[in-house]
Formats: sequence, C-alpha cells, structure tokens
Amino acid sequence: EAKSTGGGQVASFSQAMADEVERRSAVERDLRMAVAHRQFALVFQPQVNARTGDIVAAEALLRWRHPRGLRMPSGFLQRAEETGLIVDIGNWVIADVADTLHRWAEQGVEQRLAINISRRQLAHAPFFHSLRESLLDAGAPVSMLELEFTETVLMQCGPEALRAIGWLREDGARIAIDNFGTGYSNLSRLRSMPIDRIKMHSSLTMHVATNADARAITQAVIGLIHGMGCEAIAEGVETDAQTEVLRVIGCDTLQGYAIARPMAEEAFLNWSQREGRISA
Ligand code: C2E
Ligand code: MG
Ligand code: MG
Repeated sequence: EAKSTGGGQVASFSQAMADEVERRSAVERDLRMAVAHRQFALVFQPQVNARTGDIVAAEALLRWRHPRGLRMPSGFLQRAEETGLIVDIGNWVIADVADTLHRWAEQGVEQRLAINISRRQLAHAPFFHSLRESLLDAGAPVSMLELEFTETVLMQCGPEALRAIGWLREDGARIAIDNFGTGYSNLSRLRSMPIDRIKMHSSLTMHVATNADARAITQAVIGLIHGMGCEAIAEGVETDAQTEVLRVIGCDTLQGYAIARPMAEEAFLNWSQREGRISA
C-alpha cells in the first residue's frame, strides 16, 4: 500500500517534470515561430511632466501576437532569456523602434521613445554596434532614443559597453535605470554611472498617498536621485491621489495607468494630440 503510493508519487512527480519540460519546449518552439514570423508588436505608454502634464517620452513595451491571443512579457520573456531568443526579439524591438522614430521625425512628431534592454541582450557582444547600425539604417534620430536597464545590469557593463553608452549620450540618447528600489543598490557606484533618469518602482511609491513613512521615504529617494543629477520618474502610478502627492514631493515625471495605459501606435498618437501636449 505504502509502496504503491510512493511509486505513484514518483510516477506523478516525473510526469509533472515531463509535462514541465514539454511545456517549456512548446513555448520555445512557439517563440522560434514568433521570431520567424514577426508575431511581435510594441505598445506605447506615455510619461508626463508631473507639474505640467506635458508628455515628455513614451516607453515601448513588447507584446506577442500569439495565434491564440495576445501574450504579455511575463508569459514569455523569461523563456526568451533562457533560450537566448531574447537577442533576436530585442533586435526586432530595436529595428521597429528605429523605424517608428524615423517615421515620426518625418511627420514632425518629436517623441522620445524608451526601450527595455535585458542582461542577456547587453551581454551579447555586438549589442551596441548593431544598435547603432539599426538606427543608421532606419535614419532614426539617436537623440530620441532612451535605453532602460536595471541597476544590476548596468553595473555589469564593462569598460567597452560604458564607452559605447557614453557615445550614445553624446549624441543625445538617454539612459534610465528601471525598477529602482527593488534590489540592492550600490549608491556610490551608481553616482559615477552614465545615467540621466531613474525610474522608481511602484513598490516604492505605491503607498505615498496613504502612509506618511512611505511618503517620507519616497521624498528622500527623490532627493537622492536629484542629488545624483538625475530626473526622478515614478512608474506604475495608478491613482490621482498618488499623482498629486508625487507632484508635491518633487517627482519630475509620472508613468502609469492613472495617466494612460500602454497603447498601440495610432491610439498613442491620438492620445498625445488630443491632450495637445507633446513636448520633447
Ligand atoms: P517595466 O520595464 O518595468 O515596464 C513597466 C510595466 O508595468 C509594463 O508591464 C507596464 O505595462 C506595466 N504598468 C504600467 N503602468 C502600470 C500601472 O499603473 N500599474 C501596473 N500594475 N502596471 C503598470 P509589461 O508591458 O507587462 O512589461 C513587463 C516587463 O517586461 C517590463 O517591465 C520589462 O522589464 C519587460 N519588457 C517589456 N518590453 C520589453 C522589451 O521590448 N524588451 C525587454 N528586454 N524587456 C521588455
Ligand atoms: Mg521599463
Ligand atoms: Mg519598471
């Protein structure tokens, strides 16, 4: 009795493992198809000046148009990282953003676009070289591009990558730290890094409107960011109350559902025009 139960557990455990392996390779197979057939799309989420409401930039966010429905990054990015497919996907993102920036420039839309760059992409040796090629190929204005890295990823940059980042910044591109406040921070090193903007993760700012300590801490962090000569952005701003407090305590820029959700290009451009406040 006990033995057969044990055997059953072993059997179902290895069945579960087999199912997991199968599921992962199915995702990988689907992802390879997606890369081959370019089943990806970008949506754009506005970032606005906390005081004036002017749109100052937008973040491009990846979506997978899977034949069975739209997939969010949380459902496939990790697998894309593990398999290295993120390099191809990331190259598609860069090429698409470069095209978009070129088109917008032709239409007189001066709109800065930020893209997310993951560890694996950056570790891929020709990253900055192929980034520059893509921008040149598309005739995209480098000054309208912003790159978002997490602090850990930026800290792992070698001297060559840092030099390439320096050149991009000389051409007007900007560097942002994503999800600040979620990990271990090396403040003294951060100070010496080539950064323009720091995005405070929502876990840091979530309670600013309801909790005095959270408000004081966020205000101190904003002071720290300004002290490093950077612009402070709050991401994941969901309520008008948060918007108001963040403005009062000196946050420069706001991004989140309280302002606007990520939108397809046309909806995004309509939103920008309707609000009538595009300013680069
Ligand atoms: P992230 O860069 O921190 O982007 C912010 C995420 O928060 C986005 O999720 C956005 O849709 C979501 N968000 C925005 N406002 C709010 C809000 O008010 N409340 C809440 N709850 N969420 C909000 P998304 O689009 O699912 O992307 C998740 C993550 O996937 C991104 O986090 C980024 O790390 C990664 N990612 C997205 N696109 C790309 C890409 O093209 N390349 C790479 N390497 N990573 C990407
Ligand atoms: Mg981001
Ligand atoms: Mg973030």
